[in-house]
Amino acid sequence: MRYIVFLMILLAVAVIYAIIRVLSIRKTKKGNIPKNNVIPLDPHRKSRKSTDEQPCSSCKKKNGKLIFYAQDDGSIVGLCKDCQAKAKKRDMLPL
Ligand SMILES: [Zn+2]
Repeated sequence: MRYIVFLMILLAVAVIYAIIRVLSIRKTKKGNIPKNNVIPLDPHRKSRKSTDEQPCSSCKKKNGKLIFYAQDDGSIVGLCKDCQAKAKKRDMLPL
């Protein structure tokens, strides 16, 4: 009888341990989501400060204010008004 009680306690500890592990994994996964969203914004913020001085990434002309788009590979390009039409055709996302 004592052996069965010991097994029950062991099983309970194993179940609790498993639940804690699952919960901690879920927490770390949730914690990573905002971090991943922040990383692509940093180069965007830096480049925004000197928007007026930067040439267009496509035509290389200093054509006033640039609009920034995220490319499929994750890089960010600043495009002038003339090049925005090209970006729209390529389904690029404005930032
Ligand atoms: Zn341009």
